[in-house]
Amino acid sequence: MKILVTGGAGFIGSAVIRHIIRNTADSVVNLDKLTYAGNLESLAEISDSERYAFEHVDICNRAELDRVFRKHQPDAVMHLAAESHVDRSIDGPSAFIETNIVGTYCLLEASRQYWLGLDETRKAAFRFHHISTDEVYGDLEGPEDLFTETTSYAPSSPYSASKASSDHLVRAWRRTYGMPTLITNCSNNYGPYHFPEKLIPLIILNALEGKPLPIYGKGDQVRDWLYVEDHARALYKVVTEGEVGETYNIGGHNEKQNIEVVHTLCELLDEFRPVSSNAKICGSDAPVANQAAGLAMSSYKDLITHVQDRPGHDLRYAIDASKIQRELGWTPEETFESGIRKTVEWYLNNPDWVAHVKSGAYQQWLDKNYSAR
Ligand code: NAD
Repeated sequence: MKILVTGGAGFIGSAVIRHIIRNTADSVVNLDKLTYAGNLESLAEISDSERYAFEHVDICNRAELDRVFRKHQPDAVMHLAAESHVDRSIDGPSAFIETNIVGTYCLLEASRQYWLGLDETRKAAFRFHHISTDEVYGDLEGPEDLFTETTSYAPSSPYSASKASSDHLVRAWRRTYGMPTLITNCSNNYGPYHFPEKLIPLIILNALEGKPLPIYGKGDQVRDWLYVEDHARALYKVVTEGEVGETYNIGGHNEKQNIEVVHTLCELLDEFRPVSSNAKICGSDAPVANQAAGLAMSSYKDLITHVQDRPGHDLRYAIDASKIQRELGWTPEETFESGIRKTVEWYLNNPDWVAHVKSGAYQQWLDKNYSAR
């Protein structure tokens, strides 16, 4: 089948596309606006595939969406395009309202128009899969509580409120127009190719540069961590085997306080800390980009700096992922310990990807290649 993936140049979208091209016979059309968070270098290993195509399109542009549907005739949509960073939503909510709410509305309407024009067989098989977050549920009170698919919505930030709105739109398009929709709500993802504004890559890269490791408040906020490749497998299972109209929560069974996560990262980086900046890691020949190697400190933990907490910061999120496990047979393959080690090794072994993203070289390439479109 052919799947239209929106936001496929982002962190999770690129993992989904790599998973589909590597492990299935399906084709993918990646539709992405290429904001600061979109990076086609994350797709370098599959972009030569005949089963992969890219469309540089904003989901708010209805005419362009219609063109893409007409041209590619997809069998399913996986909708990941979004503004995704909570801190940015607090500083400037407008892009979040535009892309996450208006953009989802435009995509739903373009999909519906296209779906209505399909022949009966293709119409019955078509799927619209909306990818959302556990942040729509707000935070949990009791230490044992878990978010289930029926937990009431209580979003706290402009980001989570915009995602909650988009979930409601998708449910309304199911109920009102009979669109064959599915929704997934997942916990915090981590893994390779993560843009360095999010906690885990930020801590790894700041540590390697000997910069302070900022922790909001006491760092006692609890998040459930999901390895991005486990998530990509779950999403593919939902779009291909999930029941239309259903919602599935996806989590990693890895509840950790932020401070615990940062300590684990520091301990791993201490383990890999080279004697000189030319040291090698994990038997690989890739040089370790580690400017902190020569700093006088006993552990990267010395760099931890507590900063003022984010307004409205939710204290605890935790997911009950038993429905997807029971009904679709999905479970995460990585434990937090194995996934976080793989993640640290990936950042240490991919200094070029990091350098391009951080130096703006990727942004310059993007401006040169796509500014005229
Ligand atoms: P990301 O910020 O890494 O990527 C978002 C992608 O969407 C980028 O490639 C960007 O260029 C693209 N995009 C943004 N605005 C667009 C627009 N108007 N038109 C077309 N493309 C546009 O995000 P991510 O972390 O990969 O998250 C993907 C999805 O998963 C989002 O919907 C997010 O809400 C959800 N989610 C993410 C997490 C997480 O931990 N990262 C957790 C739960 C849910």
